[in-house]
Amino acid sequence: MINLLDLELNKLEELLVSMGEPKFRAKQVFGWLYKGAGSFDEMTNVPAALRQKLAEFCEIGLPEVMQVQQSKIDGTRKYLFGLKDGNAIESVFMKYKFGNSICVSSQVGCRMGCKFCASTLGGLLRNLTPGEIAGQILAAEKDTGERISHVVVMGTGEPFDNYDNVAAFIRLINDKNGLNIGMRNITVSTCGVVPMISRFGEDFPQVNLAISLHATNNEARSAMMPVNKAYPMEQLIEACRAYGQATSRRVTFEYTLVKGVNDGPKDAEALAKVLRGMLCHVNLIPLNVVKETGFETSSRASALEFQRILESRGVPATIRRELGDDIDAACGQLRLKARDA
Ligand code: SAH
Repeated sequence: MINLLDLELNKLEELLVSMGEPKFRAKQVFGWLYKGAGSFDEMTNVPAALRQKLAEFCEIGLPEVMQVQQSKIDGTRKYLFGLKDGNAIESVFMKYKFGNSICVSSQVGCRMGCKFCASTLGGLLRNLTPGEIAGQILAAEKDTGERISHVVVMGTGEPFDNYDNVAAFIRLINDKNGLNIGMRNITVSTCGVVPMISRFGEDFPQVNLAISLHATNNEARSAMMPVNKAYPMEQLIEACRAYGQATSRRVTFEYTLVKGVNDGPKDAEALAKVLRGMLCHVNLIPLNVVKETGFETSSRASALEFQRILESRGVPATIRRELGDDIDAACGQLRLKARDA
């Protein structure tokens, strides 16, 4: 079975033309898919004979809602979605003043091995297809009845370890015949797979790039993030500078504050030094405690002091607002719980 959600419009056109259909039918079908149609019968302007033919060897592979947790504080909804092969993935729907945003997963599990992260504890099971990543948006829109305008690829998985599918996903959701999500409303977050950074800048100069940094020197970063052994910090920072020069876009550095590990005033000073003169922004993220990892989160006071030091040295920094605090299960914990249950 072909999952039609995996096909970019030009591929869908090829498929329909190969079935002897006129090309314009592809746009109609594509439009239905991205309006969230769950069955071919809903595609009322598509001839019944074609609908039947499609149903024979194609499917609309929307993920199935297995579990939802809704925050009573801010309307954040955390989803555990089931895929056809029985795997489960997580997505988070968030409400902001500027619109609705979703955090999607790009892989089932992850092989990057970051020490503080829940998503990598069971290793990588497989890549998600473009349609499985897009399906998370469609399923959440369907469930909430609301439009999603912003997308962050910051759920489970390393997007640059599944580059081609993530690239196809971006083109899919950007297509004006479908979700029409603007490139500037999409953010991709990487732990620092350096060779992909310049490629990403060339392919998607308008999409926002976020880099998970979390440390200020190789020793500390390698201890927390094994990827740093393959691509040390000098290479990463150099690639980010080059990216900034090539795209004129500001890179976001994510810095998770871990109590006693990387959250002291000295760390803030060191970070400011590393980023000096760079077109960037630092997003400070109080660690979400994953009990398996043994790490603790920073105090509010340490976070504020860290931010103050960065700003005083000319590095713009914000502390991430914690949404959905009352429903724990951030950063891969929902899937982990379901797996262990
Ligand atoms: N693999 C990509 C995207 C997924 S992780 C990446 O590394 O960027 C998304 C962000 O959440 C990363 O910055 C990651 O380091 C961070 N993160 C992972 N576990 C966390 C935790 N327990 N608390 C806070 N942030 C965490």
